[in-house]
Amino acid sequence: MLNDAGEAVSGSGPAPGRRGRLVVISGPSGSGKSTLVRRLLDRPELRLAVSISATTRDPRPGEVNGRDYLFVAHEEFEQIRARGELLESALVHGQHYGTPAGPVRDAIERGLCVALVIDVQGGFQVRKKAPDALLVFIQVPSLQVLEARLRARGTDSEATIERRLVNARREIELAREYDVQVVNDDLERAVEQLATILSQNGCGA
Ligand code: ADP
Ligand code: 5GP
Repeated sequence: MLNDAGEAVSGSGPAPGRRGRLVVISGPSGSGKSTLVRRLLDRPELRLAVSISATTRDPRPGEVNGRDYLFVAHEEFEQIRARGELLESALVHGQHYGTPAGPVRDAIERGLCVALVIDVQGGFQVRKKAPDALLVFIQVPSLQVLEARLRARGTDSEATIERRLVNARREIELAREYDVQVVNDDLERAVEQLATILSQNGCGA
């Protein structure tokens, strides 16, 4: 768990009398969720941390275990889930992903908002467990733009890109169930819009 300065949250003091809030950030793969959350963590006016998910997928070039994800084998993922240590979990694009509950709970108790960059199945599980969670959906201007971004990112195989585009249509249909939608067309505008939404929803410093 990292705070807005990129430091381990466990090192910072508690915020007396204040509890944080869960902020689910969903959207099709390639919609810009990670880019946006990275930018929000730099904003001094927000009190925001990001949850690091466990996943069974392989690291992409440049991804670091413990920073981008906790990369685990299938067996280990099953053990973590069986011990009840995940706040939510889902099979996404053929791989398992889940949110470790402990670090999220600690950060909330310290008064931080915690961004969960997770898929819509996970988003709905979180809403059930924490009805006050804010669910934000990141939209793309069009599926053509999404495809172009996935190709430009250069991290996924052709088969993976095609699978992600098929899943994108399904996810976009569920966006209407979310509390807020933000179109990530112009990056700077989307960052500003998200920062304002978070400030107005209990995540201001
Ligand atoms: P996600 O986390 O949703 O899978 P990423 O944050 O990895 O998406 O973004 C996918 C690609 O699109 C990255 O190469 C990123 O730099 C690029 N990107 C993100 N937002 C924009 C934007 N507004 N305009 C153009 N490219 C963007
Ligand atoms: P990627 O492999 O591109 O990093 O992520 C693929 C998808 O898995 C994205 O939609 C992402 O939001 C989702 N995801 C990442 N971590 C989690 C998690 O912990 N739980 C759930 N349910 N989905 C996740």
